[in-house]
Amino acid sequence: MSSRIIIAALASGIVFATVAGVGAQTNAITIRAASALDGRGRAIPDAAVTVQGGKIVSVRSGRGGSATYDLRGLTLLPGLIDTHVHIDTHFGKDGRATSDGETPQQSILYSVENAWVTLMAGFTTVQSIGSPSDVDLRAAIARGLVPGPRLLTSIRPVNENTGNPDAIRAFVRKVKADGADLVKLFASKSSREGGAQTMTDEQIQAACGEAKAVGLRSWVHAHSPSSIRAATLAGCTTVTHGSQATAAELELMQQHGTYFEPNIGLVSQNYLENKARYLGIGNFNEEGFAFTEKGIPMKREMFKHALEVRGLKLIMGTDAGAGAHGRSAEEIIYRVQVAGQPAGDAIVDATSHNAMSLGLAERIGALAAGLDADLIAVDGDPLKDVTALRRVAFVMKGGVVFKNVAR
Ligand SMILES: [Zn+2]
Repeated sequence: MSSRIIIAALASGIVFATVAGVGAQTNAITIRAASALDGRGRAIPDAAVTVQGGKIVSVRSGRGGSATYDLRGLTLLPGLIDTHVHIDTHFGKDGRATSDGETPQQSILYSVENAWVTLMAGFTTVQSIGSPSDVDLRAAIARGLVPGPRLLTSIRPVNENTGNPDAIRAFVRKVKADGADLVKLFASKSSREGGAQTMTDEQIQAACGEAKAVGLRSWVHAHSPSSIRAATLAGCTTVTHGSQATAAELELMQQHGTYFEPNIGLVSQNYLENKARYLGIGNFNEEGFAFTEKGIPMKREMFKHALEVRGLKLIMGTDAGAGAHGRSAEEIIYRVQVAGQPAGDAIVDATSHNAMSLGLAERIGALAAGLDADLIAVDGDPLKDVTALRRVAFVMKGGVVFKNVAR
């Protein structure tokens, strides 16, 4: 059986893999759509994108001419990016948010499912923050036969118990040697436990400093103002969560060029929707759920303040765990519909700004000649109705079509 047939069989008829495996097409193909958003803030009417050898060759406007994929009525965008998922997390055999009692084979298959639903939802790159099993999943996806987004991973996190600064620096070198794409720090408690700073300033400086020295980015879980300040002043790449950021921390991140990845629209809502599946596991207790519920309006207001800080480098990550995979676009929709971010800006955050934060701006995150051919088409115009991002009809990654339900 050829690998092309395997992919088609996997997809129960809705996916048409034009070329099997890692190799993208050698002949040029053209995709036409009603319009395109280039991921950098430009809208292109009557868009025609030509792709060859897995790369975008040209992006232009104009009617007429032939099309390999005629996506009239749809809007083309760069493949979406989520800078923060936990691709291995899932509801297990008993429906609970734990993998207790599973074999490693069962666990990895759940990760494969998560990768599949994430790609089908239009996310062609995600950063998993992170699990040791991500390494094999990343390799399987990169081989081209397991359908999933481009995957980046932190493998194992640094926290206050990793050791003194020297031990932390050794830990960072080890995750680098093990193939990590970034270093994840837990610099504060969970929001369910109040979010106070846990790592010392010196530990944070050691982790982010060593990450930079070995060429890795650093992503810092930080809720409280002091943990956000410590991460920012230590030169860490990104603060994630930041739920208790005040104007002072938002300004500080802006001044230091720190990326800020708030998670306001999916993670807490998902915990509440699936409360029975989480309750009783770790810090998912009634007190923790009370924090989660109170945190939703607090984070929304924090985000509104963030929108007012000119030049703050906002990016889009969801912190998607069990129950949230395949729904990453909900974060973008929430930012627009509930928190008032202009849709065009929210889309730029989820594409070119995210690519920049991953150090991949030269490869992904925009519809532009020379970039990898990661593009999607949605039913409707997301600038007018952002919920169009829920209706992904076409997904191409690296020039290979993984989904095409356009009619
Ligand atoms: Zn997370």
